[in-house]
Parts: sequence; structure tokens; C-alpha cells
Amino acid sequence: MRYIKPRSLKRLPGFLFLIGCLSSSAQTFTTKGTSLYDYYGYYFRQEFNIEVTGLPAVADSSFGLTSVLLNLRHERVSDLKITLESPDGASIWLTNRNGKDSGAHYIHTRFSQFGQSGLISAARAPFTGDYRPDGQLEFLNHGQNPNGTWKLYIEDLKKDFSGDLDSIQLLFSHQPAKAIIRKKCDFENIGLCDCPDGAKNCDLLPDLVIIPFFTENQIQEYAWNDPVYPRQLRLAATIANIGYGPMEIKGAKAEKEGRLSVNQRIYNRKNGKLAYQDFPAGTMYFEDKPGHNHYHVDDWVEFRLVKISNKKRTILTKGSKVSYCLFTTGIIYQSDGFSTINGKKYGENMPNYGLGYYPSCNFDKQGISVGGYDTYGMLYEGQYLELPENLPNGDYTLEIEIDPHHWYRESDKKNNVFSMKVRVGKQVVYPSRR
Ligand SMILES: [Zn+2]
Repeated sequence: MRYIKPRSLKRLPGFLFLIGCLSSSAQTFTTKGTSLYDYYGYYFRQEFNIEVTGLPAVADSSFGLTSVLLNLRHERVSDLKITLESPDGASIWLTNRNGKDSGAHYIHTRFSQFGQSGLISAARAPFTGDYRPDGQLEFLNHGQNPNGTWKLYIEDLKKDFSGDLDSIQLLFSHQPAKAIIRKKCDFENIGLCDCPDGAKNCDLLPDLVIIPFFTENQIQEYAWNDPVYPRQLRLAATIANIGYGPMEIKGAKAEKEGRLSVNQRIYNRKNGKLAYQDFPAGTMYFEDKPGHNHYHVDDWVEFRLVKISNKKRTILTKGSKVSYCLFTTGIIYQSDGFSTINGKKYGENMPNYGLGYYPSCNFDKQGISVGGYDTYGMLYEGQYLELPENLPNGDYTLEIEIDPHHWYRESDKKNNVFSMKVRVGKQVVYPSRR
């Protein structure tokens, strides 16, 4: 356990040195690392430069970033949010607070678009293998020049442990991470986008649902005397858009109950042409907690614990409504084990798959593209229900409702509540984890 004082930060850049090495089929660029700092109470991210030179001038679907190899030692990796940024400023999460409570280290962890070891968020430390990152690598091959300074940002979001970055390596090749496109339906070619029931004109509405897999894999009850998460049932929530159009929102300057007001933008296809309308919806605010530093949409989800007996539903507790930043963290492929939602498989077969581009959480524009999802891990702020005192051991139902106020328009509001059986109660004794 080590606590490093801020004054030592200015020594950091001197520790970095760079190696670029070339092979005939692929090119790799490596940065050797240095000590990582522990969280000391305010927003701070450590920056590591990876100098990339000598590549073709465009990173796209024929050449570009293929994988990222990470070696990092840290006794509790769930403290860490690790972001990769291309020289033009596009960025994705490689991994954000994964590894549950006590997972340690990233050892020879490769991130690639279809990582065969599965999602990094569902895996166990030390993550040795080939994983899909939390974000989309293909966002970093969007036609920009890949030559220049790539940046790896590491944020430690919780105190008590620090670590070392050993190395980070970027691999570029002719098999890059790339968007899977079924046909060219986009805002420039709206005539190629489908309307429900083959209609010529329509509103391209989103439809939001919870993907069960993420919550099922990241849910944990903590004891009443747990020093960090007392009596909490912590859980992940991942919201997918299975509609015909993107979920898109825009902040507006007007204030509404002390918050910034939000409009929802609905796109329409009218005789092959693109149009849109903005509708007043909810509110948003600037979230400055560690790991965020961007705009959040208020009251985006609500968690509830309910008891259902003899068809009677009793709400035992509700979490406060949690605010989210909306962006397309990942996208669903049909080959994914988790792409079955409410008995139906989703992915590249979806009409208008990939429509909308939402790589970050800006004030002007946030959203979830068609087939995209926005994920919140179990260790993110607000991802819990406080269990009632003296809750009897037993089986209960966890409910997650998206947009509990019904502020946002969707093609189907009835599928916004996800429920799942959970077994909770006083049987959990500290230490309840690990
Ligand atoms: Zn956030």
C-alpha cells in the first residue's frame, strides 16, 4: 500500500521512453511505463504518450488499430479507469473499474474488437487473454491520421492502492477493428434506412432495454458492517437500443428546476429525405465525480427491490434515481452470447444497425446508436440499492426501470422494466467479498 503525494507528479514525464518496432505484416508501438498514483481526493489522470510514426496516413476499415496489449500491476484493479485516445482526440474506454473488489493486475491483457476471451467487464483479474474492451476500438479507426501521439490515460478512482504500468503496446495492421455495416443506412443516406412495416415515412424511434447478461454477471450483496458498501446490493446496468432510430439528446441552456434542460431529437424519414424534430424531455447537469467529468442525464434509471407473493407486488426499497451519461460504449453482434434480449437475438440483423454516432458525453449531443449499448459497472457511483435493515433472508425480485418518469420517447415503453430474481438477506457476513 502506498500513498504518493501530489508533489512527486512533476517528475513523471522523465520516466517515459518509447520503442517503435516494425514487422512485415503488422506494426507495434510500445511505451514502457512507470509508477501509478493512488487516488488522493480529486480529479486527476495520468497520461502516457505512445509515439506512432511511419504508418499509412489514414486509419479506417482497411488499415488501422487492431489490438492493444497491456501489462500493469495494481493490487485492486477495480480502482482503475483506462482510456485510449488517438492523436485526433477520439477516445474509448479500454477498461473501467473491472475486476470486482479484489482482482489484481492486468497480465498480458490484449484488447481486440472480437476478443475471444469475452468482455473485459465479465472477466476475472489478471485478465490474461484476448478481451473485448469496454469501449469500441473501431471508434479509433474513423478515417483519421494514426501517426502522432496516442495517449493512454489512467485514473485511479479510489484510495489505498497504487501500482505500476509496465507496458502498453499498440498493434496496427490490415485487419483493423472496424464497424460492421449491413448496408449504408446513415444520416447522409436516410433513404436506405428502414421504417417499421416497410412504410415509406416514419419517425425513427429508439427502443431501450436492459441487457440481462451484464447485471447477471455483476451483482453482489455486501454485509451491514462492510466498511465501504454497507448493506448495499451493487449491480451493473447496461442499456441497449433495439429500436429503428438512435436515442439522441441535446442539452439546452434553459434552466429547469436548477438543472439544464434536455431536448430529445427524433429523426424521421420522409419520402427518402432526412428530417428531425426536437422535443422537450428531461434535465442534465455536469457530473464532476472522479471517473466522470462530463454531462449526465438526470434520473435515467431506477433500481427497486420488490417482493412478489400471491401475485401481489410490494416495493421494499428504491434506490435514488441514477443519472447517466449517454454514449455508445459498445455494440451488439449476433455472435455475442449476450445478444439475446427478451427471447430475441439482436445484432447486425437489426434494421438501421449502427445508425447514430455517439462516442462521448458532450453537452450538445449524447446518445445510444441503433444496436449500441451504454454500460454502467457495479462499482460505478450510484449502482446500488441500500437493503432495508432486518430484511429477512430470501428470494426477491430486482427491478431496473429505464426512464422511470417517461420523459423520453421510444417505440415501446412497456419493455423498459427489467426484472431478475435475487437471493438476499442477512446471511452475508463481512467480509462478504472476494
Ligand atoms: Zn459519467
